[in-house]
Amino acid sequence: MENDDPRFHYPVACQRCGVELQLGRGSCYLVKIEAMADPSPPQLDFEDYPNDLNAAFRDVLEELSHLSAQEAMDQVYRRLSFYLCARCYARWIENPTG
Ligand SMILES: [Zn+2]
Repeated sequence: MENDDPRFHYPVACQRCGVELQLGRGSCYLVKIEAMADPSPPQLDFEDYPNDLNAAFRDVLEELSHLSAQEAMDQVYRRLSFYLCARCYARWIENPTG
């Protein structure tokens, strides 16, 4: 599996502005993001499958069969990490979803 930890990628650059960063000088930030699909139990719509719950599961498996294992994983869980320079971090942290 590819290592997504930016500390193993040299030279290290700010993900936003691309400036090369000097690690170990306290002048940049390592940002880690963990995103997962809604972890609530799935709500099956039984009205679509009044008599055949197995058909409901077959349909779900059919949908998943079109995805590679990596694509299926990417739909439910992603973990990202990247560096930002101090200036870009100051802007980003005030509006991370903007
Ligand atoms: Zn930057």
